[in-house]
Amino acid sequence: MVSFWEKDVFLKKYDIIIIGAGFSGLWLAYFLKKEKPNLDICILDSGVLPTGASTKNAGFSCFGSPTELLENIEVMGVDAAMYWTEQRFKGIRIIDEYFGSEIDYDPCGGTELFNDKTIFEETKEKIALLNSNLKSITGNKQHFFENHSVINSCGFNNFQHAISNKAEGSIHSGKLVNALMERLQALKVKMFFGVEVANYEIENENVTVFSKNNLQFQANHLCIATNAFTKKLLPDIDLYAGRGQVFITEPIAGLNWKGTFHFDKGYYYFRNYKNRVLFGGGRNLNFEVENTENFGLTDLVQNMLEKLLYENIIPKHKSVKIDQRWSGIMAFDDSKTPVSKCFNPHLSISVRMNGMGVALAPTLSENLAKEILKNREF
Ligand SMILES: Cc1cc2nc3c(=O)[nH]c(=O)nc-3n(C[C@H](O)[C@H](O)[C@H](O)COP(=O)(O)OP(=O)(O)OC[C@H]3O[C@@H](n4cnc5c(N)ncnc54)[C@H](O)[C@@H]3O)c2cc1C
Repeated sequence: MVSFWEKDVFLKKYDIIIIGAGFSGLWLAYFLKKEKPNLDICILDSGVLPTGASTKNAGFSCFGSPTELLENIEVMGVDAAMYWTEQRFKGIRIIDEYFGSEIDYDPCGGTELFNDKTIFEETKEKIALLNSNLKSITGNKQHFFENHSVINSCGFNNFQHAISNKAEGSIHSGKLVNALMERLQALKVKMFFGVEVANYEIENENVTVFSKNNLQFQANHLCIATNAFTKKLLPDIDLYAGRGQVFITEPIAGLNWKGTFHFDKGYYYFRNYKNRVLFGGGRNLNFEVENTENFGLTDLVQNMLEKLLYENIIPKHKSVKIDQRWSGIMAFDDSKTPVSKCFNPHLSISVRMNGMGVALAPTLSENLAKEILKNREF
């Protein structure tokens, strides 16, 4: 039972309620407040911590590897692929500009590694095409470049070829979520955790949000930023969940490389975090099992990650301990494009980040904040 005091302060009518305290919801609240500081905003999240992908990823601020961007061109055409690449590029710059110094942001550059000569040669042939399209986005004529020195200097095994770019970076994802939350608290955005939204109703000018623990919240506008879990609120949305499994080793003496690395079309990715290898991927080993909303680890993926760690990444004959393992849940669709838009003056959505929400959420949220404020007066 809710008291008068609780209703007056916490369960009052807000201007905007955002469901989901991942990067999409947090950046949206941040840009709404930036545009209109007096807005009364409340964020609801079902987890005690944000519990989707934002604090569970590998901390790549991902520009994209050449094979991934070439695949995007095949799926969506050059113009759309470049549009979304530009949004990532801008997103990484926003992260750096607003929070870089607080979140271990490192503009370390990214590298795709190859152990298949044919795939490398095919990719290399298309680099000129990619670079000519990327020049207007990054200002760099040689955005992707063949990088022999990585192969020679990093001591990886089994990789013979590498293509690098300077636009990719790495972050501490937990620190970015925390920095956004601290900034929003200072801006008087209310955040309630442990509140799973069951459904909502829009009637006249009013949105009512019902939580599973029988609380009701009111607002003029609702934004759904629940990514992989959106079907529970919008059953017709076209998306499917995908799990990413990750582990981090204990510190390894003599780990002499820096940067973010991808191989096997981006299905595997690793980086150095304070002399530990953070390594994730392997969803493609069994899509049927990994296309799930359920957190968890499987022997198939974890064993493959460990095998590849020893075979490919760390110096031969070294034995390392895995310190922690975890998983995160992403949202995908066949078009590889996010949905971030107003449905009407009372309802908007920012979901389906297709595994790229670290980089995409800042720009998508900035644009959506403007659209929400254009669509209705507060
Ligand atoms: C292993 C892994 C690697 C990744 N690598 C990269 C990368 O290299 N580059 C990149 O850009 N991105 C990467 N990502 C993806 C990136 O982390 C996500 O795209 C991004 O975090 C999505 O943010 P979001 O806010 O949209 O969703 P989420 O972070 O999933 O947030 C959604 C929130 O909604 C809440 N929620 C859901 N349903 C409800 C409900 N009914 N009521 C209340 N709250 C609810 C959840 O608790 C959650 O906190 C990776 C993700 C993973 C897991």
